[in-house]
Amino acid sequence: MAGEKLYEGKAKIIYTTDDPAVLLTYFKDDATAFNAQKRGQIADKGKINCAISTYLFQRLESAGIATHWLETVSDREMRVKALSIIPLEVVVRNVAAGSLCRQTGLPLGQVLLPPLVEFYYKNDDMGDPLLTPDRMRVMNVATDEQIATLRRQAEQINHILTKFFASCAITLVDFKLEFGLDHQQTIVLGDEISPDTCRLWDQATEDETQRVMDKDRFRQDLGQVEQAYQRVLERVMAQSPQH
Ligand code: 5GP
Repeated sequence: MAGEKLYEGKAKIIYTTDDPAVLLTYFKDDATAFNAQKRGQIADKGKINCAISTYLFQRLESAGIATHWLETVSDREMRVKALSIIPLEVVVRNVAAGSLCRQTGLPLGQVLLPPLVEFYYKNDDMGDPLLTPDRMRVMNVATDEQIATLRRQAEQINHILTKFFASCAITLVDFKLEFGLDHQQTIVLGDEISPDTCRLWDQATEDETQRVMDKDRFRQDLGQVEQAYQRVLERVMAQSPQH
């Protein structure tokens, strides 16, 4: 049962529960982009992202990745382990897009082998700046050992998710992960994995607009946003053993 509202973010609300080790995450339909300068709603996004995240967290758990997911209790709510959040956004890139193209001039669609693993400071007021290992060290945001573990886990997660999305005829272009520490100081994957946090391109078409199945449809006003999220869900669920 949901307790007090602990935190309301752009896409989710976190509630306490009777158990201090457990929190309840509620997935909203609200969508924001460009550090909340653009705001809107995507119909049923909360339900879709809750279902996709549930499926992917379970898949990662069975591959040996520790995640915060415990149980999905309604179509918008999951019970998760309470974590002390590491204020980093870990971004993995298999194909150049988004800020990488803007900041480096690399062409959209250039394959990145090996994939890039990048660390951004999770701080809206500063616009989530890109960090370097030296900056992370002086900021004391994570130890060198933790950074090495985050990198290794991000690479493992990328390996699992890239293969999975390929089986859905979707290219996993890039994605953002957030991690936290549990009571034993173990690094655990948190947040969500969904079309809000991943770039996903439909392998059925090379058209630069039509192929987009993720939040870029909202960011760039490409239209058919709900339909794209729904199509990702359908393809993910088609891989599910329950279906
Ligand atoms: P970029 O740095 O190109 O804007 O984003 C890289 C990837 O990380 C994209 O898949 C993007 O959706 C995800 N990402 C980066 N920062 C954020 C963020 O603050 N919120 C969300 N939802 N996704 C992010």
